[in-house]
Amino acid sequence: MIDLYTLDRPGLDALLAGWGQRRFRAKQLWSWMYDKGAADFDEMTDLPAGLRERLAREATLGSLQLAEEQHSADGTIKRVWRLPDGQLIESVLMPYRDGRRTACISSQAGCAMACAFCATGQMGFARQLSAAEIVEQALRFSGELQARGERLSNVVLMGMGEPFHNYDAVIEAVRRLNTDLGIGARHITVSTVGLVPQIRRFAEEGLQVTLAISLHAATDDARSALMPINRRWPLDELIAACRDYVDRTHRRVTFEWALIQGVNDDVATAERLGRLLQGLHCHVNLIPLNPTAGYDGGPSGEPAVAGFIEALGRFGVPATARVRRGIDIDAGCGQLKAKVLRRERAQSGDGSASYS
Ligand code: SAH
Repeated sequence: MIDLYTLDRPGLDALLAGWGQRRFRAKQLWSWMYDKGAADFDEMTDLPAGLRERLAREATLGSLQLAEEQHSADGTIKRVWRLPDGQLIESVLMPYRDGRRTACISSQAGCAMACAFCATGQMGFARQLSAAEIVEQALRFSGELQARGERLSNVVLMGMGEPFHNYDAVIEAVRRLNTDLGIGARHITVSTVGLVPQIRRFAEEGLQVTLAISLHAATDDARSALMPINRRWPLDELIAACRDYVDRTHRRVTFEWALIQGVNDDVATAERLGRLLQGLHCHVNLIPLNPTAGYDGGPSGEPAVAGFIEALGRFGVPATARVRRGIDIDAGCGQLKAKVLRRERAQSGDGSASYS
C-alpha cells in the first residue's frame, strides 16, 4: 500500500506512468487530491473504473483514522486522529465571522519541551510526524470545507508538538501547504518555544510565513519556571534571534503570551515585556490560560487583560487579546487526546500508557 500524500507531483506522475497510465491521469488524480480534497477514490468519477479499482487495492489517501471529534458551540471542530502505529494527535478547525477558516495542526505526537502549563508538554514526546501526516490534517479540513462551498484560508502549526524540533518535515509540510494545497504563505503560522538555531535557519528559508514565538514570561527566572527550554536558550539570545529574523526577512514576529492569573498578568510584568520588545517589529497575542490537569493556574480576568494591553501600549508594543476557542470541547492543546486516552485505558482495564 502506498500513501499517495507521501508523493510529490513528479512522484505521482512516475507511479501512474509505471502503471501504464497516460500522463493526464496523474493530473486528474492530483486535482482530486489537492484541489477538491477527495476522501475516497470512488468520488473520482472522471478516472476509468479500472484505475480507481487499482488505486483502491494498492494506494491510500492518507493514513489518519478519526478517533474522536467534538463540535463546540462557537463552531470550532476538534479532532483526535489515530496514526497507523496507534499514536494519537489533535487538529482543530476554527471558523471566524470574517470568513477565515483556520486549521490548527500538530507537528509531533506528544512534545519534548515540557512547558508546565501545556497539556501536550505534560504527556511527553512520542514521535515525529512525517510531512505527509502534517499536511493530511489540513487537507482533511480543506476537502470538507470545499464540499460545502467554503475554503480553508489559514493554517497554524500550534497543535501538538514543537515544529522546530521536527524542522525538516515541518518545512516540507509548509511548502506543500502553500504549493499543493494553495494556502497563502502569509496565512501560515509556525509557532515555536524559541529554538534559537532553528529560528536563525528559518530566516534563511525565504518563506513568507509568519513566525510566532511562545514567550509567556519576561525574565529568565520566570520563563525557565514555565518553559524549561529557556535554560538552553535564554531570553537575551532568543530576542536577539528575533531581531535578526526581522532584519533579515522584514517580517513582523508574533509573540504569544498565555495570561496566567497572578503569575504573569500584572502591570509590572507587562512593562518588563514592553521594555524587552520595544522597537522590535512585532505583535503580542494575549490568550487567557486554558487550564490543564497538570498545572495549577487559571486564566486572567478581563481587567488584567486590559491593563496588560494598556501597559504594552506605553512602550509602543501592539497587543491583541485573543478569544479562547472551543473551551467547551477541551480544545486546549493536548486536552482531547488526554480524554481519549483516559477512556481507552478505562475500557481496556489497563492503567499502562499504550500510546505515549
Ligand atoms: N510548541 C509550539 C506550538 C504548540 S503550542 C509552541 O510552543 O509555540 C501553541 C501555543 O499554545 C503556544 O504559544 C503555547 O505556549 C500555547 N499553550 C499551550 N498550552 C496552553 C494553555 N494551557 N493555555 C494557553 N495557551 C497554551
